[in-house]
Amino acid sequence: MLGIYGGTFDPVHYGHLRTALEVKEALGITDLRFLPCRSPPHRGSPGASPEQRLTMLELALQNAGSGFSVDRRELDREGLSYMVDTLTSLRAEVADQPICLILGLDAFAAIPAWHRWRDLFNLAHLAVMQRPDSPDPVWAREISDIVMERRVNDPRDLQASPFGKIVFLKVSQLAISATAIRHLIACGRCARYLLPDPVLAMIQSVGLYRQYC
Ligand code: ATP
Repeated sequence: MLGIYGGTFDPVHYGHLRTALEVKEALGITDLRFLPCRSPPHRGSPGASPEQRLTMLELALQNAGSGFSVDRRELDREGLSYMVDTLTSLRAEVADQPICLILGLDAFAAIPAWHRWRDLFNLAHLAVMQRPDSPDPVWAREISDIVMERRVNDPRDLQASPFGKIVFLKVSQLAISATAIRHLIACGRCARYLLPDPVLAMIQSVGLYRQYC
C-alpha cells in the first residue's frame, strides 16, 4: 500500500517522523511518501522555499531505511496545491493498488473546505491520526455522514480495496510544531531534539526562520 503524508514541513520535525513510522507499521504501508506542498491553499506562505523544505525532508530521511521517501510532484506543479489533483496523478501511476492519505484530526475536521473534497474518497483511503487519549470529536454534519458511511475499525480492511475507507489511528502525539520551532529559532533559542540534527544544521547554515520573532 502507498501512504501519502502531506504537509508544509516548514520544517519537518519529530512529530511528523514518529507518527509516519507508527502509521506505516499499523497499516502495513510499504511505500510511505512525504509530500511537501508548494503553495498551501489554507495558510500563508511558508518561511522556507519549496526547494529548502524538500532538502530538509531529504536530510531527515537519510537514515530512515527503505519504505520512506519524498515525493516532489506538488513542488513541480504551478499554482495552489490541491490534494485531489495530487491523488489523481498518483492514482494514474499505481492503478488498483490501495493509496492511503494520512492526516491529523485537525486537518480532517477541516476537510470540507478542501477543493473537490468528496472526490478524495474515490481516489484514496484516509488514515486520521488521533491522540491516544482523545475521545471522538463532535463532527460537523457533513463529516459525520461521511464517517458513518466509510469508517472501518480494522486497518486490514484498507488492503481489500483501493480507496474509499476511513480509519482512525491512535498515535503518539509529540507536542512539537513547526510554528514553535520557527519561533524558537527566531528568538535565538535552541531547537535541538525537536527535529533531526542534519535539518537543524541546514537551518542554521542557511539562516532560515531568523525573521519570525
Ligand atoms: P505548522 O506549525 O507550521 O502549522 P505543523 O508542525 O503542524 O506545522 P504541517 O506540515 O502543517 O506541520 O503538518 C503536516 C501533518 O503533520 C498534519 O497532518 C499534522 O496534523 C501532522 N502533524 C504535525 N505536527 C504533528 C505532531 N507533533 N504530532 C503528530 N502529527 C503532527
